[in-house]
Amino acid sequence: MIIAIDGPSGAGKSSVSREVANRLGWSLLDTGAIYRCVALIALEKHVDNDPNACAEIAKSLDIRFVASKAGQKVFIGDRDVTKDIRTFETTQCVNHVSPMPEVRAQLLDIQRRLGHATDSIVEGRDIGSVVFPDAELKVFYTASPQARAMRRMKEFQAKGEHFDFEEVVKQIKLRDETEFNREHSPLVKCEDAIVLDTSDLDFEESCQALIRLIQNRQKELA
Ligand code: C5P
Repeated sequence: MIIAIDGPSGAGKSSVSREVANRLGWSLLDTGAIYRCVALIALEKHVDNDPNACAEIAKSLDIRFVASKAGQKVFIGDRDVTKDIRTFETTQCVNHVSPMPEVRAQLLDIQRRLGHATDSIVEGRDIGSVVFPDAELKVFYTASPQARAMRRMKEFQAKGEHFDFEEVVKQIKLRDETEFNREHSPLVKCEDAIVLDTSDLDFEESCQALIRLIQNRQKELA
């Protein structure tokens, strides 16, 4: 079974998908991490503004997801890039590398291969619309910019970092604008996707909501 989870950043889809995949014993495919790997290498090679060079990196990307006690680790070849793909610089870079159609086309195969290897929860922005249009279940995660900013603030605070709340809301709205309006593979809610608004749900409630949707779908398919 493929469960396609799409939605804007900060709506809780990554952490909830990861937890639910763990509980069900399924694989989690974090497609954002794949785009981040391309951005990281492009940044290091100083070719992040060159779509063809980025597409070449995507084409030969030797990415592996490895389960560990500390959570899922991401490797490019033998190099553990789990932390490097989450830095501020890589996050800035992936925002202009991920919309490149040349890169998106190259990453389709790898996403489908990894997703089809086993029962998977696949999360991203265009999973239900482009990568797995035939997914057994499509869920569109959403939450208000304020709720998402609040979660982000807590993450920052846990790391001892401080950010201005209004500034975080502004950044989230800006990122939504880009993701919903970009020319190639914009973030869209498919007609057949179920919307899960997590603004008023805590983490456990969000997990339960997703598990219920999956179980209902399994019963329908049985
Ligand atoms: O989810 P995450 O923030 O890690 O995604 C990193 C970047 O990759 C974002 O800019 C997001 O828009 C992009 N992305 C994408 N398509 C996906 C998954 C992520 O364009 N399927």
